[in-house]
Amino acid sequence: MRYVQIDTQSDPLSLTHPSTEKQKDLSLLLVNELKAIGVSDAHMDEWGYVYATLPSNSDKQVPVICFCSHVDTAPDASGTGIKPILHRHYKGQEIVLPDDTKQVLRKADFPYLEKLIGHDIITASGKTLLGSDDKSGVAEIIDAANYLMQYPEVKHGTIKILFTTDEEVGKGVEKVDIQKLGADFGYTLDGGEAGSLEDETFSADGVQIIIHGVITHPGHGKGKLVNALKLAAEILAKLPKNELSPETTDQKQGYIHPTRVEGIAEKCTIDFLIRDFVTAELKTKKDLLKKIVTSVLQACPSASFEFKVTEQYRNMKEVLDEHPQIVENAKEAISRSDLVLKMESIRGGTDGSRLSFMGLPCPNLFTGMQAIHSMLEFISVQDMNKAVETIVHVATIWEEKAQVAATTSVP
Ligand SMILES: [Zn+2]
Repeated sequence: MRYVQIDTQSDPLSLTHPSTEKQKDLSLLLVNELKAIGVSDAHMDEWGYVYATLPSNSDKQVPVICFCSHVDTAPDASGTGIKPILHRHYKGQEIVLPDDTKQVLRKADFPYLEKLIGHDIITASGKTLLGSDDKSGVAEIIDAANYLMQYPEVKHGTIKILFTTDEEVGKGVEKVDIQKLGADFGYTLDGGEAGSLEDETFSADGVQIIIHGVITHPGHGKGKLVNALKLAAEILAKLPKNELSPETTDQKQGYIHPTRVEGIAEKCTIDFLIRDFVTAELKTKKDLLKKIVTSVLQACPSASFEFKVTEQYRNMKEVLDEHPQIVENAKEAISRSDLVLKMESIRGGTDGSRLSFMGLPCPNLFTGMQAIHSMLEFISVQDMNKAVETIVHVATIWEEKAQVAATTSVP
């Protein structure tokens, strides 16, 4: 509740990094708190990232594990003047937010609330988001670190802590120094309901189609002029209507999604997002798109097109499957915390998917956050405690399963 009162909203239009200086206010506070609990190397870099190490207290060779979350909050709703409210012992009633009484939390809208009866729930006051995305992750990592520092009898390997800036504006891992971090595997704490574990994201490409028409004076265009805008309209009209779009797909289905058209009669550009959980299926979708464009342009041989593909990100499962222990240990930690495991696939990307391909395989653990990026954002204190418990279990499970270090043999 203290962390969310520090405004750390990131700004998608900013050209600086961090996108807003104020994110460093929380980063600096976290450095001081980590130092206060004995994490002596905690520091903030010029991008506002916090790096810290909990030294190993095990004589085994345990892989170095990183826990990561982001300090910024989403630009979707105000992050200024957040007044967190603790609603003790929720009984299933409607929760009316006092600063805007039109903002009401109801079980009918958020069925997950049914599971939170008896819990203590934190909300904002009605005029701002709460910022549990991702200050819940931050708080849980700090709390777990505090626990591990206080109880040295709880064995663990070297634990790295990483807090990033600008996740919400898509730049969260841009400046991460993987070498300096020095972790083998990681876990982001940026997921939703208690017990959930996300190990899969979309694979994603961007496609830009540039259509070159043929321009003449419109008064003398007969038989010569080819209007690129009309070709673009035809291409868009030929996209599948009942499938392969975000409007018509869910779960494990991918899509082709036009996001922007810009042009004049002579030249027109269309941008697309191509998404699928299976990377090879991206090609099938791109081939289909190219076939549509080719068929439209066949009727006008004097027109031409360019088809530019940009790789955006890849399904982190491809990397995680090479190191099954990462997800296995998380599953076991969740069950040791007496939670029901809920495996989820993210119909989008995460910092974890980017980190995974930067060399830090990194699934996403739950924090408890709900209704994120909105005025109705809420979180259960008990769910947060379960997340702390899960972090501690992850740390100890890695230690339990590690090899005993080779001891020098005594003759
Ligand atoms: Zn987040």
